[in-house]
Amino acid sequence: MKQNTNHVVSKRIVLQHPQSLIGLEHLTDIRERTKRRKGKNAKQRKANRAFSKWSFAELHSMIAYKALLHRSMAIKVDANYTSQACPKCGHTCKENRPNKGLLFVCQNCQYTLHADLVGARNIAMRTLLLRQDWIGTGLLSVRPDVSDVEAKAARLKRYAGLRWSSDTTPSPRL
Ligand SMILES: [Zn+2]
Repeated sequence: MKQNTNHVVSKRIVLQHPQSLIGLEHLTDIRERTKRRKGKNAKQRKANRAFSKWSFAELHSMIAYKALLHRSMAIKVDANYTSQACPKCGHTCKENRPNKGLLFVCQNCQYTLHADLVGARNIAMRTLLLRQDWIGTGLLSVRPDVSDVEAKAARLKRYAGLRWSSDTTPSPRL
């Protein structure tokens, strides 16, 4: 059932957005999200995580190969703090997710939205930043280099300066 759902979801994404650059969360950090799944014991929780991670990995690979068939491309972006960072003012803290719930409430500017939509906005902005770099340098990284700690810190610093507005459109200038 999961495999079928992944096929349906990935197909819908690439058909609705042809000739697009599709940003996906880098899977290494998916645990931040799946942690909230409740399990009876540690073993169950571990199994939940492994299963969820596998399922996301499958969805990612389906989106990636189907994207190419529709003149699109999928890239991966750093997932760190995507569900804790305010897309509007940049304020980043755990408390932006009161009671670790699904609702995001910025403790600085009171921006309120479903946490998954906040995550999606942050990923979209990071993807646009990579697109901007791509246009400027001719180089595109399909996945973040997580082995270089300094480079990663530099990327996170740049992400912290990103701001979402309702007229944010996929243009070279953010
Ligand atoms: Zn805010």
